[in-house]
Amino acid sequence: MRFAPSPTGLLHIGGARTALYNWLQARHDGGAMILRIEDTDRERSTPDNVEQILDALRWLELEWDEGPKSQYERGDRHVEVLGSLLASGAAYRDPATSQDVKAWKDRHGADRGYRGEASDDPGAAVRLRVPDDGDTIVQDLIRGEVRFPNAAADDFVIARGDGSVLYNFAVAVDDADMGITDVIRGDDHLSNTPKQLLVMEAMGVEPPRYAHLPLLHGPDGKKLSKRNGAASVQELRERGYLPAAVRNYLALLGWGTGDDTTVMSTEQLIERFDVSDVGRSSAIFDEQKLRWLNGRFMREMALDEYTAVVARHLGREPDERLRAACSIVQDKAQTLNEVWPLVAFLFEEPVTDEKAWRKVMKDGAFPLLEEAHAALSGVDPFEPGQIERALASVLAERDVKPGKLYQPIRVAITGGTVSPGIFESLAALGREAALRRMRRALDRDRKARRNG
Ligand code: GLU
Repeated sequence: MRFAPSPTGLLHIGGARTALYNWLQARHDGGAMILRIEDTDRERSTPDNVEQILDALRWLELEWDEGPKSQYERGDRHVEVLGSLLASGAAYRDPATSQDVKAWKDRHGADRGYRGEASDDPGAAVRLRVPDDGDTIVQDLIRGEVRFPNAAADDFVIARGDGSVLYNFAVAVDDADMGITDVIRGDDHLSNTPKQLLVMEAMGVEPPRYAHLPLLHGPDGKKLSKRNGAASVQELRERGYLPAAVRNYLALLGWGTGDDTTVMSTEQLIERFDVSDVGRSSAIFDEQKLRWLNGRFMREMALDEYTAVVARHLGREPDERLRAACSIVQDKAQTLNEVWPLVAFLFEEPVTDEKAWRKVMKDGAFPLLEEAHAALSGVDPFEPGQIERALASVLAERDVKPGKLYQPIRVAITGGTVSPGIFESLAALGREAALRRMRRALDRDRKARRNG
């Protein structure tokens, strides 16, 4: 298997899915995964772009077995194969194409691009002979048999007059040399495949199996693009997703177990994945589903691991305090980015959302909160079960619904209306701080009402 990105920018969802499918298939089959960087476009293949791709693959934990191999650096080998195809007559120089070559040079500059010294006649491009009849057949694992009539294809150019080889030629030579048995790539490459097959046939090598993945669409049904939901792997990382959840979600973009299983560990994915089970219709990238799945992964982690991951994400120490915060937020946060806003009240004095406070303090909440304050001062140990009992008795006496009391407490201790469970939040904050914040809120409220 191989993943062969062109390093023209960040790794996006589509490329990440292609990398993942190759990786899963390699792990499933016990094969090797080769990383080949298709860096023959010297202008766009900057070291920075290459590093972005490697970085994204590393974050996704899709480790490769060989490479990264540079396609550009294999230039001598491409020229060597070109020479042997010329010698065997499978390819020929076409002086008539020299004009095209000149035009290309004018556009790109004579020394740009990559070139070997295949030709002592720089005016003549090299063409591969395509049979006049018959079909070139792609046996695609997803689409089945796809036929390309040879009569419709010209003898195509595989090298320019200056000796630089063309894309489809380089890919075919590399796949052949690297012993690639399976190529999984996007549908947009299907039209390249007959050319690559013809090159391999001319080289006298067995072609790999091919699987062309249907394109990804955004939730609006349009092709996934930067404008339309396509995030880079780096963005997903910044938005606080876990690599394991991203792998799980990407795996399901076009592939499924057939039995509605959605939450799968990477081990399960490896065990069950088979690229020939990928569907033919385009899949939809829906970030809401990824969020949901990510939440599942967050909830199911062991607390120690969760704390370690959160600590790394926040750049904090995984100390006892953070661990306590993690234990109350784990059920609630769907992404790593959601953790801090939900637990910040444990680490710093909250800023009260005044509008929320006024809203929750309507209709007699004031004496209720006073009573809760009194009830909580006697709770010992200050732990969720005891806290719940103390507050329940306040509710019972007054015969009011829980929200009427819990929301004012929540705003008083966290500053807002959204937090982890109220008993757990109180316990994690500790009696002293909880009572202090409630008292302060009540005093402020009393003053405000006196003045108002
Ligand atoms: N370099 C190509 C791309 O990034 C992929 C080529 C291939 O997989 O054969 O789209």
